[in-house]
Amino acid sequence: MGVVNVQWADVSQSFGSGRLVVDQKRDGLNSGLIRVMKILTKILSCSKIMGLVALPMGAGPDRTLADERAEWSEVRLLSLAKDIHDRYLTLDTHLDVPIVLRRPGFDISREHSWVDDASQVDFPRMKKGGLDGGFFVVFVPQGPLKLAARAQAIEEGLMITNLIRETVEIHADQSGLATTPVEAEAFRSAGKHVVFMGIENGYVMGRNLDLLERYHELGVRYFGFVHTRNNDLADSSTDRSGPLHFGISELGRAAVDECNRLGLMIDVSHASDKTTWDILERSKAPVIASHSGAYAAYPHPRNLNDPLLRQIAAAGGVVQMNVFSTYLMDTPPDEARDAAIESWRKKYEAPQPLPMDVDIQRRIEIMGIKEAFPSSLSDIPTVADHVDHLVRVMGINHVGFSGDFDGGGGVADLMDVSEMMNLTAELLRRGYSEEDLGKMWGSNVMRVLTEVQAVAAELQAALD
Ligand SMILES: [Zn+2]
Repeated sequence: MGVVNVQWADVSQSFGSGRLVVDQKRDGLNSGLIRVMKILTKILSCSKIMGLVALPMGAGPDRTLADERAEWSEVRLLSLAKDIHDRYLTLDTHLDVPIVLRRPGFDISREHSWVDDASQVDFPRMKKGGLDGGFFVVFVPQGPLKLAARAQAIEEGLMITNLIRETVEIHADQSGLATTPVEAEAFRSAGKHVVFMGIENGYVMGRNLDLLERYHELGVRYFGFVHTRNNDLADSSTDRSGPLHFGISELGRAAVDECNRLGLMIDVSHASDKTTWDILERSKAPVIASHSGAYAAYPHPRNLNDPLLRQIAAAGGVVQMNVFSTYLMDTPPDEARDAAIESWRKKYEAPQPLPMDVDIQRRIEIMGIKEAFPSSLSDIPTVADHVDHLVRVMGINHVGFSGDFDGGGGVADLMDVSEMMNLTAELLRRGYSEEDLGKMWGSNVMRVLTEVQAVAAELQAALD
């Protein structure tokens, strides 16, 4: 790995040598070439672009750094990782912790463990993992596209939003509900956990566009159109029945406009490719993928292909690398595991959404199966391969992280928020700089939120 890095670094150095400057005087043609190469050298010496150009072999952005760090001990890497987590704002853009918050008696201020109660996020473990906070997700599973079911989804969506607000209020000494990057920084400086809110699955607005304003007022700052199945707004990447709207519907188009007007970041994770293209074409503001991987690194329909990655970056957006095993690798055959999963699936076949207590039990059981069959878990190097690819295609300013914890996320050595620094350590080993990691851990997505809110302010001013 890293061969091309060396070549680029060498090229930039050799073209800066005195010998070539002498040649330049003798040969007019050569002199033109030298000029071009000098400009290239100048561009290459800019660290940001260096990160972009120097990655094609899948290594980190600085060959020398990667080389040096390859010899570092785990302890030294983790110590540098801790230092970075201390110094930068660190946010995970997809935490499904509200699913666990709904458990009677669950206390986010106490330390839990995923082995004991299948939970992956709480304040003490966030502290251990050096995670300042993230987006707590308002999620309702996709149900029938019928009046009564939509009404129930709206009710649940608002209930979960209020549950997050209440949780933050109860623990106001340790956390704060953030709606802007400035607020996030303020809570961090005060030593508090930063809680943003995002929506996963536009089903929570039914067919009522006005609810977007209501969610925004309550503090929600991103809106994901779909989950694993198609809904009234758009097509999902994983609906087995195929496309329903062939992208976004008329209502979906109106929802894009409304998100732009309000300053809600649009989240394209789970959306079909066509849905994502439609959103990119329609949206006046950059978009995010709150938890997605790279299709080129693993061809799952949930992952984003290179043309989409490029377009998301070109529009100023970010893709937050998802730590979810199923979307990262083929699972090797294992009859006992497959039988366990099949019987688990059959047991909970009842139409969604399941009653809360049944859903909790369902999740605890699948976590138990994952624990019993660790072969179904991907690993941190695989996650880092996706990150390398995303950075290579999009540039360092357009990539971030998300654990999808409490929503099925987790890979070996990164099974809950307390282990976040292990990912940072792996990326440091690959040669990413501290500044790169600071961007990916938080400032990239905060830049998008700032831009989305600025676009909203412009649109609102134009309407007044
Ligand atoms: Zn998801």
